[in-house]
Amino acid sequence: MNQNRKKKISIVVPAFNEEAVLPEFQKRIQTVVNELPYDTEIIYINDGSTDKTLEILTGICKEDLTVKVLDLSRNYGKEIALTAGLDYCSADAAIPIDADLQDPPEVIPRLIEKWEEGFNVVYARRTSREGESWLKKATAKSFYKFMQRLGRVSIPENVGDFRLIDRKALNALKELREHHRFMKGLFTLIGFRQIAIDYSRDARFAGETKWNYWKLWNFSLEGITSFSIAPLKLSTYLGLMTAFAAFSYGIFVFGKALFLGDDVPGYPSLMVVIAFLGGIQLVVLGIIGEYLGRVFNETKNRPLYFIQDVIGEPSDKDV
Ligand code: UDP
Ligand code: MG
Repeated sequence: MNQNRKKKISIVVPAFNEEAVLPEFQKRIQTVVNELPYDTEIIYINDGSTDKTLEILTGICKEDLTVKVLDLSRNYGKEIALTAGLDYCSADAAIPIDADLQDPPEVIPRLIEKWEEGFNVVYARRTSREGESWLKKATAKSFYKFMQRLGRVSIPENVGDFRLIDRKALNALKELREHHRFMKGLFTLIGFRQIAIDYSRDARFAGETKWNYWKLWNFSLEGITSFSIAPLKLSTYLGLMTAFAAFSYGIFVFGKALFLGDDVPGYPSLMVVIAFLGGIQLVVLGIIGEYLGRVFNETKNRPLYFIQDVIGEPSDKDV
């Protein structure tokens, strides 16, 4: 290996139907990247877009030789798209960033500064979230609170995927091949020297967010189930508590029949108890099912993604 070579940084950008923002994004990222005293490349991942994203990216690629495009075989979702980009990258550090300009590229030099101070992961923490509804902010906040209570790895609040990851951390990340990928959790899980810098998150430049509340709910489930088995434990205690309550109630009913006689009333209370227990059982089964489903998916051990094409020069691997 050449000791004196310039360090290389890859910017990794997952893009799904981003035709409206890509030209502007490329312009802004290019301005920032050109100023950097490093070798740089930009890796776009086309995550099965159905609009003109791929055409635009191919165009950008032709104009700029430091740009590469990984074209995935279909839409896999952001977490996998990002994984594909990080796998492909061979640089000394990678910086994942959203294509929608919500993460301002101008923050990148500050990330690099901390990296040069010796940190392995420098994550960008947003101090404000422009253009997001109070409901989204509130749900996000309670989700992080909940996760922090639950998990052994505490996921930092108000942090997205926008960060700098050095080679050491990237290699560690590469070994985590789970299918249910909650990237924020994985980034935390690997450890290493991590530090935050603050920035203010902008509103989306154009186009629409791919997240709706149903997706966010499922994303939260993913986060919880892949980093904690607390719900399973909770089920056990819930079961124990209801069993105890049922037992006490049984003694009460038995005593009452013994001392006061039994004239066969009690249909309503019976129904309440049956319905209540039935409900609890279904919920608990559901929780077990969530985990079982994930075990099922993981055991198949399928590759995480397939690549249709790599456009642009092959990246110059370490010589
Ligand atoms: N994205 C992707 N695949 C998807 C959905 C989104 O690669 O299936 C990309 C998208 O193009 C963007 C980033 O992930 O660059 C963040 O997406 P979005 O802005 O919709 O999410 P939000 O910022 O609202 O969390
Ligand atoms: Mg966005």
